[in-house]
Amino acid sequence: MQTALRPSLLQTTEGKQADEILRNCVHCGFCNATCPTYQLTGDELDGPRGRIYLIKQALEGIPPTARTRLHLDRCLTCRACETTCPSGVDYHRLLDTGRALTEQAVARPVQERALRWLLRRTLAFRTRFALLLHAGQLLRPLLPATVQARIPARQRRKPFRPGTVHARSVLMLNGCVQPALAPQINLAAEKLLDALGIRVVPETADGCCGALSHHLGAGGEAKAFMRRNIDVWWPHIERGVEAIVVTASGCAPMVKDYGRLLADDPAYAERAARVSTLARDLSEVVVAEQPWLALPQAPATRVAFHSPCTLQHAQRLSGVVENLLQQCGFRLATVADAHLCCGSAGTYSILQGKLASTLRDNKLAALQADAPQCIATANIGCLAHMAAHATVPVQHWVQLLCALLPGETA
Ligand code: SF4
Ligand code: SF4
Repeated sequence: MQTALRPSLLQTTEGKQADEILRNCVHCGFCNATCPTYQLTGDELDGPRGRIYLIKQALEGIPPTARTRLHLDRCLTCRACETTCPSGVDYHRLLDTGRALTEQAVARPVQERALRWLLRRTLAFRTRFALLLHAGQLLRPLLPATVQARIPARQRRKPFRPGTVHARSVLMLNGCVQPALAPQINLAAEKLLDALGIRVVPETADGCCGALSHHLGAGGEAKAFMRRNIDVWWPHIERGVEAIVVTASGCAPMVKDYGRLLADDPAYAERAARVSTLARDLSEVVVAEQPWLALPQAPATRVAFHSPCTLQHAQRLSGVVENLLQQCGFRLATVADAHLCCGSAGTYSILQGKLASTLRDNKLAALQADAPQCIATANIGCLAHMAAHATVPVQHWVQLLCALLPGETA
């Protein structure tokens, strides 16, 4: 694709990167075939190729409009288009630039700004979110049915005291919403890693990985979260932890990207790069230890696995969890259109409710078509988005594996 970016932009790192990405695109349109929003609306501007054109125009000096913002807002950042693109177009980085440019140029209506601010100030803070969720759980009977459906039952995390002291240790991201919504996920991961001879450093004071603010156009705030996590983790890194394990596939790509996102920060660039090299999705850690994983075989439970976009497209870890489940004796249900997003996508399910609900209903229909006994996934966002509407239980895959350990139950 030929480009004519504004000369002032071409002098910036971001402008140069955007120009390079645009030049890789040959506008073939293959990516439209796997784009969930293009499939729903049929509008070229709701597909990756159309969005790339909108961003190109903005970068070349044609002022973006509210319509530009609408089509960029409707993008799930699922990155299915990147998996499909034969030219390797790094769409999500271009989208970050396009969104930042549009955010500066076109003011949002007050109520939209207020909602986005509120989401950033509540969801990204573990204690605030836990208090709000607890209040919602207490007041549940008084709330409208649609709100009730979004509030899961209260779960308490039991303390885990490993019986053996292991020489190997890892950090595990606690994050923002997961400890309140589903504390059993990290507990199950700790138990499984313990069975593999790996100690998880007891709960550290980390926080949101920064993805929530980053995707809501608050780049400075996202960087503040990243710096805080680096400060919390650094003493443990210096003491020799092997990895920073992330159980939410939605957060893992962000931590893996700290090095790039903080590359211009002289005080943090080096440490951020080190953090990125240590960041691992839980599935990567477990699969590397798999030869030593001596679990009793599962009793042929039929599982439908929903591979989150952040696992299969952003981290390119397709098939890893599916293989682990099968090797542990689970039977995998057939799932059509497994490449498509469930509509959760961070705050997308709140900000783009109608599209998100349609995507969720389509996803659940595909997951439940082959009569599974449960649905497994790898991301708290997808889990929470689907659980209230599924006809079978929805769990993190590590909970299924953990239930096979001696003394554990499903
Ligand atoms: S992003 Fe890739 S698949 Fe889509 S139009 Fe450009 S080159 Fe083709
Ligand atoms: S990231 Fe997903 S929703 Fe956005 S353009 Fe690509 S495929 Fe479509």
